[in-house]
Amino acid sequence: MSVATKIGVLGGGQLGQMLGLSAIPLGIECTFFDPDPEAPARVAGKHFCAAWNDRDALARFAQSVDAITFEFENVPRESLAFLEGIRPVRPSLRSLETTCDRIREKEFLRDAGVPVQPFAAVSPDAPASLELALATVGPHGVLKTRTLGYDGKGQRVVHSAEELARGWQELGSAPCIYEAFVPFDREVSVVATRGLDGTTAFYSVVENLHTKGVLFRSLAPARLSDQLTQDALRHARSVLDGLGHVGTLALELFVADGTLIANEIAPRVHNSGHWTLRGARTSQFENHMRAVAGLPLGDTGMPEHAAMVNLIGGTPSTAEVLALPGVSLQLYGKTPRPGRKVAHLHVVGATQDELLARVARAEALARRVNRLA
Ligand code: AMP
Repeated sequence: MSVATKIGVLGGGQLGQMLGLSAIPLGIECTFFDPDPEAPARVAGKHFCAAWNDRDALARFAQSVDAITFEFENVPRESLAFLEGIRPVRPSLRSLETTCDRIREKEFLRDAGVPVQPFAAVSPDAPASLELALATVGPHGVLKTRTLGYDGKGQRVVHSAEELARGWQELGSAPCIYEAFVPFDREVSVVATRGLDGTTAFYSVVENLHTKGVLFRSLAPARLSDQLTQDALRHARSVLDGLGHVGTLALELFVADGTLIANEIAPRVHNSGHWTLRGARTSQFENHMRAVAGLPLGDTGMPEHAAMVNLIGGTPSTAEVLALPGVSLQLYGKTPRPGRKVAHLHVVGATQDELLARVARAEALARRVNRLA
């Protein structure tokens, strides 16, 4: 099979930008499809600025590249199916369709042997579904819209039947998943890549800390027992192979009571894998581009301990960041707004203790400038 050297990327945010930058040394040229004239990825390749449902533009975009990938999973299904008729889309529609609906995603995980908490569908077409969901899950749960939720948006934590009914109303009585609340000790994720030939590469399991549902900091490797580390990697393998995925994805898991419970799958490069840009021999972005192009995957080993701290809604000065030992800055070129991820800090350390001391300084800097929505 020939190697793709022109890759079209659906979405031109910071994920696209980091994909584009990692593609340049591989001799791959990226073209980003994004309706935003200010799309951050425009500095890292060509920019195709058009609406998601503009068939003519989609066709011209597809014809100008060898293969297509995405950094944004809310691409309309019809647009993706249309593109699949012109050029190979990697990962395929299957990865996107399985993961964009929280019910389908949980069913897939369960069938793939990955543990999930009790869950049930709540549907405006089935008036009894609310009571049924309550009977299946119990009164302490999380109600989430089936589609289009991210960073904790479109969800409500509930503690009683009344709160569940009210929460559903607040979510516009949209089709939802109601799932048991998991009193987790920790949140972890596995970022991994599957090549076009089915080979796989796994990054160190990462420990994630969220603030108001938004990722604040990732630590690699996660502080996790060997057994749970092995279990997490095994679950990620089941997901990659079960989807027949081509490219990078992230599996987010809760650690609760000494076991793992899957939360969700992101079928693309992920914020909890940004540390790989400085902390792994081959980043999640480069491995994604290698997979989509049909190239061999690179070494995911870590020369040092690594972490990432998000800058949300504001940034410190570059000089201030670079004055901190072991800390560096990745700016996305976005205008700061409360709640908007505009940059992140990379932190590395020779030992875990050194890393944690440096992370504490990086976090203090981030907390000073971050403005959440
Ligand atoms: P999500 O959009 O599903 O990734 O949820 C955002 C965040 O909400 C997660 O990272 C968790 O911190 C929290 N969360 C989501 N679902 C649950 C759950 N079932 N139990 C406990 N916390 C949850």
